[in-house]
Amino acid sequence: MDVSLAGRNYAHIMDDISSSTWVVSGGRTSAPGDPLNVPITLASNYRAGTQRGYSRGEGTPTWEALEDLVGGLEGGRAISFSSGMAAAAAVINLLSTGTHIALPEDCYHGVASLVDEGVDKGRWSATRIAGDDTAAWVDVARTADLLWLESPSNPLLAVSDVPAIVRAERRPGALVVVDNTFATPLNQRPLGVGADIVMHSATKFLGGHSDLLAGVLVTRDDAVFAALHNQRHHGGATPGALESYLVTRGIRTLAVRMRRSEANAMDLAERLEDHPEVLKVRYPGLPSHGAYEVAQRVLGGPGAMMSFDIEGSAERATAFCDALRIVQHATSLGGVESTMERRAGTPGQEHLPPTLVRFSVGIEDVDDLWRDILQALEVSTRHG
Ligand SMILES: *Cc1c(COP(=O)(O)O)cnc(C)c1O
Repeated sequence: MDVSLAGRNYAHIMDDISSSTWVVSGGRTSAPGDPLNVPITLASNYRAGTQRGYSRGEGTPTWEALEDLVGGLEGGRAISFSSGMAAAAAVINLLSTGTHIALPEDCYHGVASLVDEGVDKGRWSATRIAGDDTAAWVDVARTADLLWLESPSNPLLAVSDVPAIVRAERRPGALVVVDNTFATPLNQRPLGVGADIVMHSATKFLGGHSDLLAGVLVTRDDAVFAALHNQRHHGGATPGALESYLVTRGIRTLAVRMRRSEANAMDLAERLEDHPEVLKVRYPGLPSHGAYEVAQRVLGGPGAMMSFDIEGSAERATAFCDALRIVQHATSLGGVESTMERRAGTPGQEHLPPTLVRFSVGIEDVDDLWRDILQALEVSTRHG
């Protein structure tokens, strides 16, 4: 299979340009007279005579603009997919029968379900480990064929010591994958410390506007790249043309969105922690967070995600979410708009603390967000 058209490998050229510049300048056209932005190419088929024949196999310029952009941010070679789950499935599909997978206790439920289905069918075995239990990860590295990390995790915000886990002695051929959706490449670049594959749900912070589904994988290893490219070619989970364009456009403002959301999140985490009706706040930027020291060392910033437990019943926590006026009561995350949801109310998440609310902090005025939270806490007290 010829993948020579697919994304450049940015492993070694990103050391002297900052991410906040690359998000603006990467993935563009360069010839005189070209539009600044790579246009939306609607094509499945190409005139014969070059290496580009059919999009599912050889891609489109619009996908490649996104892949160059994300490849540069993560420092590797990127391949885009129709969703984060399609990207995850491409990795899981690389596994042979009889392999052993280690994944976080509070792993994204779609990924955990995919692994569990394979376990039920007798294809492989899986071990669940708390994301912040570094010793257990180092231990499992000796026997696992795939270490799937997600850090910070969804929704408990566990932070993994990715550099230490990657350095652990591994079985030959074992892969370390990091779901970098929450941290974004601005706060964590796992390939730089030796991880094999980075995964993104570009639906979230990369896209940033809750208007599309997309996923990306990035690797420095040409053989792994070819295998993943083959998964997309034959699995068929190709990104949409409009979606690729919109993610590329979304990434242009990733740095300003992220820093603003993060400043809001830090401020609100501190205010929530001081509120008598909020029992526990999980946010990597708070000194009270279990993995604060690790977060300070391995993350470039605390991120825009947190979760907190409200005093009272599950009904009260749901009533709180329903009473919000500026924060959107919605399941997804990573957009310019703040969203909240009581996670234990969604299927497959019943094991979580019943009043845990996950908060994706947007870029609105922080005092407006705080007033909204206060009024919703007040209204919901009626529900005990
Ligand atoms: C949303 C999400 C996914 C799945 O991505 P989709 O784009 O919804 O398919 C995987 N991991 C994390 C951490 C996510 O938040």
